[in-house]
Amino acid sequence: MRLVIIGCTGSLAGPESPASSYLLQTRDSDGRLWSIALDLGSGAFGPLQAMVPPEALDFVGLSHLHPDHCADLTGLAVYAKYRPGAAMSSLPVYGPADTPRQLAALQYAHDPTSEGGDFHYGWWSEGQPVGIGPFEITPYQMLHPVETWGFRVAGPSDLRPGRQVVLGYTGDTDTTPGLAKVARDVDLLLIEAAFEEGRDVVRGIHLTGQRAGEAAAEGQARRVVVTHLPPWNDPEITLNAVRQAYDGPVYLARRGASYQL
Ligand SMILES: [Zn+2]
Ligand SMILES: [Zn+2]
Repeated sequence: MRLVIIGCTGSLAGPESPASSYLLQTRDSDGRLWSIALDLGSGAFGPLQAMVPPEALDFVGLSHLHPDHCADLTGLAVYAKYRPGAAMSSLPVYGPADTPRQLAALQYAHDPTSEGGDFHYGWWSEGQPVGIGPFEITPYQMLHPVETWGFRVAGPSDLRPGRQVVLGYTGDTDTTPGLAKVARDVDLLLIEAAFEEGRDVVRGIHLTGQRAGEAAAEGQARRVVVTHLPPWNDPEITLNAVRQAYDGPVYLARRGASYQL
C-alpha cells in the first residue's frame, strides 16, 4: 500500500498545498493497480490529475462535508460529466448521507441538471467495512461539529509482500473513542493536529499536537504523519508537541510526499 499526499493544509487551501486529500494505491494478486482518494478538499482535484487519471479512481471516500475535505468533488463531478468518454457513473463515492445535497449546493447554485453528480453514492456506517478490490475501509465516528468519520484502511503491504497492513486516517476530530479505534496498532497513522496547545482552547473540534501524540502513543501506532495544519501554524511547534507524547517516528505531511507501507 502506498499513501500519497495530494493536499494537507488544514481548514483551507494554503500557499504550499491544497486542503485535505490523500491517494491510496495498491496492487491486487493479479497485478491490477487500485486507487482510492480519501477526501477531496479545496484545490485538491488539480494535483490529483497529475498523480492518477481521474477515470482510474476506484473509490472516493469523504470523512465529512466541510469544504476543506469535499469542495473539489465539484471538479470531479464536472470532469465525470463533460470529459468525453469519462464514463464514471459507477464510481463509488462514500460519505455522510448529505453528500449529494452538499455537492449540488456547491455546484452552480443548485444547478438543476447536476443533482449532486452522477456517482454511485454510499454512506458510512459505524464499524461496517467497505471493500474496494484488495482494500477494506472501516469507518468510525469522530468528534467534530458535523458528522465526521475516521478510517482504518487495510490492504496488501508493499514493504512485506504477502502481509496485510493498516493505515489509520482521522479526518477532523478531537479526542474520542473512535479516534482510539482508528489509531490502534496501525502501521501508519495519518492524524490531524490543527490546534495549538494553549492557543486553541475550544474542545470538540480538532486535536492539538499533544493530543495527537497521545492518541498515537496509546494506540501504539508504528509511524505517524501529522496533517491538517492551517497556514498560520508553526509546524515545528506542532511537531515538538507530538514528539513530547509519542516517541516513534513522526513526519509532517507535505504535498506530493509518499509513504510505503
Ligand atoms: Zn478540516
Ligand atoms: Zn472539518
